[in-house]
Amino acid sequence: MSDSDPIRILLVDDVQDKLLSIQVVLEDLGCEIVTAGSGEEALRKLLHDDYAVILLDVNMPGLDGFETAELVRSRRRSEHTPIIFFTAFPDDTFAVRGYKLGAVDYILTPVVPEILRSKVAVFVDLYRLNLQTKRRAAEQVALAEEHSARVAAERASQAKSEFLANVSHELRTPMNAIIGMTELALDESPSAIVREHLETVKSNAHLLLELLNEILDFSKLESGKFTLDDAPFELRREIEVLIGTFGYRAAEKGLDLQSRIEEGVPDRLRGDALRLRQVLMNLISNAVKFTEAGNVVLRVGLESRSEDRVRIRFAVTDTGIGISPEDQERIFAPFTQVDASSTRKHGGTGLGLAIASDLVRAMGDTLGVESRTGVGSTFHFALNLSTIPQSHATDAPVGAPAGRVSEVAEASPVPSLRILVAEDTPTNQKLISHVLAKRGHVVEIVATGEDAVAAVEAQAFDVILMDVQMPKMDGLEATTKIRELPAGRRVPIVALTAHAMSGDRQRCLDAGMDDYLPKPLDIRKLLEVVEEYGRSGIGNCEAR
Ligand code: ADP
Repeated sequence: MSDSDPIRILLVDDVQDKLLSIQVVLEDLGCEIVTAGSGEEALRKLLHDDYAVILLDVNMPGLDGFETAELVRSRRRSEHTPIIFFTAFPDDTFAVRGYKLGAVDYILTPVVPEILRSKVAVFVDLYRLNLQTKRRAAEQVALAEEHSARVAAERASQAKSEFLANVSHELRTPMNAIIGMTELALDESPSAIVREHLETVKSNAHLLLELLNEILDFSKLESGKFTLDDAPFELRREIEVLIGTFGYRAAEKGLDLQSRIEEGVPDRLRGDALRLRQVLMNLISNAVKFTEAGNVVLRVGLESRSEDRVRIRFAVTDTGIGISPEDQERIFAPFTQVDASSTRKHGGTGLGLAIASDLVRAMGDTLGVESRTGVGSTFHFALNLSTIPQSHATDAPVGAPAGRVSEVAEASPVPSLRILVAEDTPTNQKLISHVLAKRGHVVEIVATGEDAVAAVEAQAFDVILMDVQMPKMDGLEATTKIRELPAGRRVPIVALTAHAMSGDRQRCLDAGMDDYLPKPLDIRKLLEVVEEYGRSGIGNCEAR
């Protein structure tokens, strides 16, 4: 049933002349007139096409008109096709038999052209209308299907972002505590060895957090695109941290884990250190996981060097179980593990190498593997990175030196502020109040939105830190309520939220908040923001 299909009329008569004369009469209906010289031929034609109407002679040798009509009706394709009989004998018994077989009309021959034409025209019109209705119905169904598919997709996508927002909240809250508490511990002048351990905890927690952000960053994940960072880093320091991270696990298995950095590999580079670390972590983690004896070596070599660019080759070699040639082709696909029992034995999702090879591809190379079963494996790739001239390197120190918080404190003393903290998680309450109290601020802690509103009614604050997700009354609603109070109209309110979604900032600002701090909190940033608002709004308390 397509628009280009002609409307067909089937004309069945054994007398050639009659066929011709009727054809002439029906010519200007604009249909294709198909003729058949016998009932058998008509049935054959009906197999291939649909017809608007069949004009059937009653008297024919072989199958006569009635027999033909019976067979026409018995076939699915033509069971409803209107049949008009021709007959030269006006006999009622004939007519009754014909109607019983499903004829819709009778025409006497010789035909009166006008009568024949108008009768056939009625059926042609009906057929055309029917076609249009069917076409429209199909269009409606297609539209409805498209609509419901779109609604379902929107719903699924919304469920996904909600899920991600919640997961991100759940995962970032403990990360917040780990990072915050580690920073506090580092602030307590620990011994050199404890400091080193804490620095490892901290850098790994940051790495985990960054990875978490990466996985949870809904839009990036959706579009499959993400941007590579281009920041200075120290290669040897990165590698040291990596080896340190796996040192314990390797030692536990009696493995010798080493890094060998070729001489001439520059140390100060620009690139995406986090992604490089992510790839190497994956490879080293696998190497340690799948090696029972021997060693795991990370080799870093210089492939080529131009004025300010280098190509550095990274290879992780182990003396582990190895991977067969067939499996080497599979392991880079997501959720693939050579041995399905691996998850039980070693953990892992089969995602590691898929992510690593995607990252290497994004950085401009292919993650390669050479391996022999029972002998070991080498995973390797090379990256183009920029070098940093020595003079610039000193201009742009990498990373903030430890203890910068106290340096800031000494540099710019701030007056003591009255700060309201609305936050329901006990670890966060402890962390925030500890940090703020240490700076000489006076902190009032509440755990619900209602209590925050009540606190503002009862006394004046210089700054309010407002968790967005709290039970019963959330931070947004509490802010709206506080803004309605005379005492709360001008006090700076800073949102604390673990939501990863981009619309969040706007929602906080729309609710009347002044700023926004993502969780896990960066202590330095927290102090900076609080004290900045406190300083600009100082006197708020006294004025009220
Ligand atoms: P996971 O380690 O989470 O299972 P990966 O994608 O990192 O997932 O690795 C996929 C599979 O490739 C592993 O399950 C393992 O079968 C195989 N594999 C990866 N690295 C090694 C290695 N160094 N030695 C032996 N097999 C490995």
